[in-house]
Amino acid sequence: MAADSEAETELRYMQPVEPPIPLSPAVTISVQAFEAIREELQTESPELETGGILLGHDEGAVISVLHAGAGGPHAVRQTRHFLRDLAFSQLLALDKWYLDSSEWIGEWHSHPSGELIPSPTDFRSYLTHLADEELRFSRFISIIVCTDGESFRAAAWVVASTVAIEVPLVLHNEE
Ligand SMILES: [Zn+2]
Repeated sequence: MAADSEAETELRYMQPVEPPIPLSPAVTISVQAFEAIREELQTESPELETGGILLGHDEGAVISVLHAGAGGPHAVRQTRHFLRDLAFSQLLALDKWYLDSSEWIGEWHSHPSGELIPSPTDFRSYLTHLADEELRFSRFISIIVCTDGESFRAAAWVVASTVAIEVPLVLHNEE
């Protein structure tokens, strides 16, 4: 049986350590998360950026956003800058982890300018999250939204290593 186990060991060396990460997955968003974003946008001033964390599951080819956080009572909202309320976001993340094992997979924020592209500052902050080994991100999801009060537009981005790629954002109706 020694020969068999040796062969097995060799085979194991030939297999990839981790499944490859698709560079361009689709991002689905639950109705609940989508409505939470819309509600936050309607509550806050349209001239100021707002946002929150995204919680859900990264399943390789599909990334599911199940919950979207509000900014929280201590968020910093400015015309070209947003900083979420950390304690508020952590509490929400814990709550959803217990609910359906949702993990922190990214963040959303608004651009009052109407540009649905991450700014250099956004990109730098995503890279900081990716570089933080404790957070264990293999990629980071960013949803950027804007509204003129009536219409609503959103774009999803996947940030991995040094690139940000725009990917389809699909509303997922659970019924
Ligand atoms: Zn931004």
